[in-house]
Amino acid sequence: MTIDLTIKDLGAWNDNMNLPLVIAGPCSAESELQMLTTANELSKNDKISYFRAGVWKPRTRPGSFEGIGVKALDWMKAVKEQTGLKLATEVANAEHVEACLKAGVDLLWIGARTSVNPFSVQEIADAIKGVDICIAVKNPINPDLQLWVGALERINKVGITKLIAIHRGFSSYEKSPFRNQPLWDYPIELKTICPQIPIICDPSHIAGTRDLIPFIAQKALDMDMDGFIIESHINPSAALSDAAQQLSPKDLDSLLKSLVVRIAISKNEEFSDQLDKLRDMIDELDEDITQKLSSRMEIAEKIGKYKKDHNVTILQVKRWEELIAHRITYASALGLSKDFMKRFLKLVHKESIRRQTEIMNVSPKK
Ligand code: PEP
Ligand code: MN
Repeated sequence: MTIDLTIKDLGAWNDNMNLPLVIAGPCSAESELQMLTTANELSKNDKISYFRAGVWKPRTRPGSFEGIGVKALDWMKAVKEQTGLKLATEVANAEHVEACLKAGVDLLWIGARTSVNPFSVQEIADAIKGVDICIAVKNPINPDLQLWVGALERINKVGITKLIAIHRGFSSYEKSPFRNQPLWDYPIELKTICPQIPIICDPSHIAGTRDLIPFIAQKALDMDMDGFIIESHINPSAALSDAAQQLSPKDLDSLLKSLVVRIAISKNEEFSDQLDKLRDMIDELDEDITQKLSSRMEIAEKIGKYKKDHNVTILQVKRWEELIAHRITYASALGLSKDFMKRFLKLVHKESIRRQTEIMNVSPKK
């Protein structure tokens, strides 16, 4: 699948040409003093071009700090006047959009709890129709690529070409060190089906705690992402929301300095030649693996026929357990991760069972 979005290249409109794009600022606008002191510090950092702050805060439970509302937009204006930073905030409905446009906010983002809802996204799209503004769309809270793509399409359809996707991770029941699981496959798939869309990472909401942010931020750059939206507060531990994941402007500066920005393509000829050779080897190996998998499936089908003729069940748990234990030991001795091998074999086994089921002519239960 590919999706056809009309997108203006990030480099063409982001006048801080020092990519990656960095949007930084507190989770929430709390007071004029907090906003101005944070923004003043951040503005000393030439890697940062946008100041973010949540004016309306979508909180999971009522009773938590839910944002200051429109009054905070005056503080945003003061930030722009005093620091020259461009402004970014979250909008969840048409009223928010209208207030932000009046206040001169330069970038509006659609949060994870809004991008999940096509009615809300459409309402926002209708409110920004005809406006030359940058819109960023966070991934929905659940790992549903279609919903993320759909939200981007709705915004693009009303003529917004300064469009960015934000990877902020996904809620999950599974135990995880992260507040939101990164599930990198999703932004990678988005990049694959729509290479022209810039994707930035929100390591703050993925990590949930300060200490995990550098790992996520570096990984995002290594996945060829185009920048960050990252939370920074003048006094993080006193923040009214998301205190555990905000960095002081000084710590943010150290983080940004520590990140290694790699390039997608090198102009160095020797490097390109060597890379081409290695990629040729990978291509050949992938062909071999595909052929072997095809042969393996053919043999599995033969076994299926044989089992059918002798009225033997497809699944034989003991054989499967022995096989998996043996293969994992073998793979581990060859330097492969046990977890990877286990997942790989499970996938292969599932496909074998599917093909044998077809042979047995048993229709799968719906
Ligand atoms: C935020 O960026 O402050 C925010 C609420 O994020 P998310 O929509 O990703 O939860
Ligand atoms: Mn936050």
